[in-house]
Formats: sequence, structure tokens, C-alpha cells
Amino acid sequence: MKCKGCGSASAVISMRQHRLALCAECFPAWLRQYTQRTIERYEMFGPGDRVLVAVSGGKDSLALWDVLVALGYQAEGVHIDLGITHGDYSARSREKAQAFAGTRGLTLHVVDLAADYGATVPGKVAERRGRTACSLCGLVKRHEMNRVAWEEGFTVLATGHNLDDEAATLLGNTLHWQVGYLARQAPVLPASDDGFMRKVKPFCRLAERETAAYALLQGIDYIRDECPFSTNASSLFYKRLLNELERRSPAAKQSFYLEFLQAREGGAIRFQEAGRPSMTPCARCGQPTTAGGLCAFCRLFGKDGR
Ligand code: SF4
Ligand code: ZN
Repeated sequence: MKCKGCGSASAVISMRQHRLALCAECFPAWLRQYTQRTIERYEMFGPGDRVLVAVSGGKDSLALWDVLVALGYQAEGVHIDLGITHGDYSARSREKAQAFAGTRGLTLHVVDLAADYGATVPGKVAERRGRTACSLCGLVKRHEMNRVAWEEGFTVLATGHNLDDEAATLLGNTLHWQVGYLARQAPVLPASDDGFMRKVKPFCRLAERETAAYALLQGIDYIRDECPFSTNASSLFYKRLLNELERRSPAAKQSFYLEFLQAREGGAIRFQEAGRPSMTPCARCGQPTTAGGLCAFCRLFGKDGR
């Protein structure tokens, strides 16, 4: 198949949902422009913003950082070392993130849970029976990314969530009628007066195979293993279901997610979001919390560290 961009080279990727097949030269340029259009379409940020990219060491976050820098944005990265020693997962993820930043001369902010707080996610799982690694990990990431962005003067926090991630989240939220989450699942979450950063997902309209192809073609070295705690994650099961659906009905994922966004934007569907409780700054870290006194992160991780 010939590339529809240049018309001469052989296409390396065919994207039925975009009715497009592109070669190894045209595809990365197209993906960058498509990301730029997503940034503009949802008014995510502009050239004057300082963007902090949440970098796990996986393909999506590194590809996003690569794209934002190529588009000329002021983008730095933040990586959180969760202290997962199984398969050296955290050490290898961190190495990928640091190597990417190092070879490109980019700034990466690293939070090391063990060194900075004297604790790790697996350690806390063992201590707190009943809390899953993923719920603790989510708490750590939300807190630390917001804190770094806030302390370092960034104006927006960007994550590498792609269309497959968003469609799987939407499926999970719909199956359980998580009305509050359905109200808030969006490409942009605005900043709040009480200290939550603006959060954006510039890859939300790109399929996982497209971000993977971009990483491959750009020669980005990323961690290919899944996190050892992900084996029972329902999000992976939902992704498999959606892939099956996509095989029978091409572009099903895209229409499921994008038509949900359009229907909500246009007012065809509405979800009543419960009023958000008022926030006060945490007595230790200053991050917003509903708890009064210490935030959930400081109650869990604040004893030994700073
Ligand atoms: Fe964190 Fe769970 Fe994802 Fe592992 S699978 S990185 S523990 S959220
Ligand atoms: Zn706190």
C-alpha cells in the first residue's frame, strides 16, 4: 500500500478510523500535527504554558514528551519511582525515563519514594492489608505530580493516556454507573482555586497502536513490561474486550469514546456531579485535602520522610 501523505513510499501503518495509511516519514509528522489539533480543539495549553509531563518510562508518556518538545512546547518531565522491586520494574522504568531525558538534554524531576519518604508502594501494601497496590499508587501519583507541578511553577500537567486507556476507563465507569467519574472523564480537567493543577491528555484521540508505532519509528527506548501489579487490573480486561469489539467493528473504540464526549459537550447526556467538598491545605505538605489536618498521602507516607 502506498503512503497517502507523500504518495510514493510504502505505508507502514494503516489507520482505518482515520482512513489513512502513511509511511515511516509521514506518520510521525502526522501524529505530531494530530496531537497539536487535539491540544487546540480542547484548549489544553498554549506556547506560554510550562507543561509538566508525567513520565512512567512507558511508550505513551515518552512519546508524548517527544511530541510536545518537537512541537516547541516548554515541557519537562516528572517520574515517580514507586519502589517496585519485582522484576526490577521501578529501577528499569526510571532508567528508561532518565536515559530519554539525558540523551535529549531535557529536565526530568524524579521523586524517589524510598529515598524521599522512606517508604515504597509494595511496602505500604504489605503494611495496609485491604489496600491494593493500584489504589496506593494512584494516591501517590496524584499527590506527587500535583505537588511537583505546583512547587516548580508549572501551569499544566500532561499525561500520556491514549484512546484505548480512555475507552477502557469509560467502559468501566459505564458498567458500574460511576456517575461522578462519568461527569469528570474529560481531555481537560481545569485547575481549581484550592490548588489542583490543570490536567490534560493530548493523546486521548490516538489509539495505542499509533503511539506505539510513533515510539518505534522515533527510536524511543521504553519499558515494554507491564507493571507486575497489573495482572488482575480490570482496565486490561476492558481493553481486551474493546479490542475484540474493534476486530468485529472497526473504529468502535473511537466512536464509543469520542461520541460520549460530544454527547456530553452538546448536552445530550448529563451527569449530576456531586458537589465537591471544600478543601483546606494539608498541614504538612500544603496540598489540598478534604480531611482537614493531614492529607491522605501525608497520613500514609509522611512519618519517616520529609
Ligand atoms: Fe501503579 Fe497499579 Fe499501574 Fe502498577 S498497575 S503502575 S501499581 S496503577
Ligand atoms: Zn499532605
